[in-house]
Amino acid sequence: MARRKSYYKKLKKASPQSIILAIIFLILAVAGYYVYNKYFKEEEPFIEAKGAISFHFMTLGNGASGDCIYVKAGEYDILIDAGSREDSVDDIQSYVNQYVKDNKLEFVIITHADEDHIAGFAADNSIFDLYKCEIIIDFPLTNKALATEKGNPTLYAEYIDNRTTEIENDSATYFTALECYNNKNGAKSVYNLSEDGNVKMEILYNYYYFNKDDGNDNNHSVCIMFYHGSRKFLFTGDLEKSGEEKFVEFYEKNNNSVLSQVELFKAGHHGSKTSSNDFLLKYIQPKVCVICCAAGAHQYNALPENRFPTQLMVDRIAKYTEKVFVTTLADPNYVGENEFADMNGDIVVTSDEETGVTVKCSNNDTLLKDTAWFINNRTMPDEWKTAA
Ligand SMILES: [Zn+2]
Repeated sequence: MARRKSYYKKLKKASPQSIILAIIFLILAVAGYYVYNKYFKEEEPFIEAKGAISFHFMTLGNGASGDCIYVKAGEYDILIDAGSREDSVDDIQSYVNQYVKDNKLEFVIITHADEDHIAGFAADNSIFDLYKCEIIIDFPLTNKALATEKGNPTLYAEYIDNRTTEIENDSATYFTALECYNNKNGAKSVYNLSEDGNVKMEILYNYYYFNKDDGNDNNHSVCIMFYHGSRKFLFTGDLEKSGEEKFVEFYEKNNNSVLSQVELFKAGHHGSKTSSNDFLLKYIQPKVCVICCAAGAHQYNALPENRFPTQLMVDRIAKYTEKVFVTTLADPNYVGENEFADMNGDIVVTSDEETGVTVKCSNNDTLLKDTAWFINNRTMPDEWKTAA
């Protein structure tokens, strides 16, 4: 007791200099901890990739930009979105049926409610009619009105009708991405796609699962990471700048491993200037980038430099990789969606235990920077200029 007393006495008598020193020490300790975490923290443990997973970015039978990605992981067949128009269903079906022989998709993910992502689910003879969809995961929020005019329902209303039928008549299990993210009601944030857990699918955080963005539906996109051993593959739908900002902010605070290098990044929002921002790219430093779009289409009356894939997005991705691929090429004298051609065509990114990560396309494997469209319509970023 006597000892403790004298300790307190000493503390009371502490000089201002020693208090200042203690404060400086405290500040240095906090700064040191921050610097250690930012620059010296050990990387995630390396996990070897076993087996294989492949990502198939499909052309969609027209000159409209849209997403439809088939993912094959062992026995698991996954479809992410089914754009771009209702008549794309035939193309999607004939592509997917090369791999799916039992008419069963273990997972169907619909990132957000825009036509170029839901059309194939809203069509008369929809993906829901053609396949038994076991688990359906979609966006928790949308700006689309469900109200229908008599005899003229909106595409979104058709989607909801078809989804409801699939749940009721085909015993599909339905979760929103928010339920998945929160591991609620039987939904999971992480699904194992192989028995040993070497291949996984994670439904990631998005601020706009919880919060309404009245601007458009893009920010409501379901965000997904696939894992093959330590390899990562990132899909953010049509997430826009503010969605990407919130995403980075969240993972900076909560989970550094999401913000580290990815093998593959599906360019946000078809290569729009408002997505695939530097503050995200600087963390994920993609080795391969796939853009699902009809290059050069006048779809949104954009200025030439802002047609997909935009000059600004190209300039940003060029800092990290030249392995950029694009599915479709719009008619250069664009008059509608019926004139189009393959750019790379269907793009298949395969991650294999033996051969690593490879890209194989149905039309050609030409890098975006070497295509005639790019040379005629875009300014070559410095990083892509070949050394003299
Ligand atoms: Zn889109």
